Amino acid sequence: MSRSYYIAGNWKMHKTRAEAAELAKALAARLKGGKHKYLVAPSFTLIETVAPIVKGSNIRLGAQNMAAEEQGAHTGEVSVLQLKDLGVQTVILGHSERRHVYKEDDGLINKKVLLALKHGLEVILCVGELLEEREAGKAEAVCETQTVEGLKGVAPADLDRIVIAYEPVWAIGTGKTATPEDADAIHAYIRKVVGKLYGPSEADKIIIQYGGSVKPENAAQLMAKENIDGALVGGAALKADSFAPIAQFDS
Ligand code: PEP
Repeated sequence: MSRSYYIAGNWKMHKTRAEAAELAKALAARLKGGKHKYLVAPSFTLIETVAPIVKGSNIRLGAQNMAAEEQGAHTGEVSVLQLKDLGVQTVILGHSERRHVYKEDDGLINKKVLLALKHGLEVILCVGELLEEREAGKAEAVCETQTVEGLKGVAPADLDRIVIAYEPVWAIGTGKTATPEDADAIHAYIRKVVGKLYGPSEADKIIIQYGGSVKPENAAQLMAKENIDGALVGGAALKADSFAPIAQFDS
C-alpha cells in the first residue's frame, strides 16, 4: 500500500490570535521530524497569524471552508483568492457542521471543490451519515451520494489533491467513536465508490481520513485498519498535548 498517513486538526471556531500562535508553535516543535503528513485548519481570522509559524515546517496550512464563488458581492464569505493570498494550501469542504447547521448541499459543496482544485488547493471532502441514517441502514448510501456528488466533474488528474474524510455525524464531538471495524467497513465502501468512478489504482491511492472523537487513546487502533489513512480531529486538535500524540501514533 502506497498511502501515507495524514493527520489534520480542525480548530473550528476556537482560539484568539495569541492562543492560536501558541498552539501552532507547540505543534511545529513537537511534530518536527514526524513521519506522517500533518495539517492545521484555524479560523479565517487566525490564518495570517499561524501561516508564518507553520511555514517551512511539516504542517500544512488549511482553512475550514470557502465561498463557492471566486469573488464579488458575497457578504460574510471568504474567497479562494483570499485564502491563497494567505498561503493556505488545503481547504476542508462539506464538514457536517456546514452541511447540517448551515444547510450546504452536495451541489454547493461540489462547486466549492471544483473551484478549490482550479486554484491549486488540496481539498479534504467530508462525508458521513447522521445517526438516524445509520440506524435506517443507509450509512453506505449516504456516503456514496456525498462522495459521488462531491467529486462530480473532478478530473482524474486532480484526484491526487482530494482527500476524503469519513466523519459519522453521530461521532463528532460526542465522545462516541465508530469502532475501528465499523469505520473501516465504510472506508472500504467509499474506496469502492472511488474505484467505480476512477478505477482501482486511484481507489487504492486515495487517502481516507476518519473523523469523530479521535483521541490519543483510540488513534492507533483506528489507524491500524487497512482502509483508514489518518484522521480529521476536532476537539483533541485544540491542545498540543492531545493532538501531538495522535499525530505521532505508532504505526
Ligand atoms: C470534526 O468536527 O471534524 C471532528 C471530528 O470533531 P471531534 O474530533 O471533536 O469529534
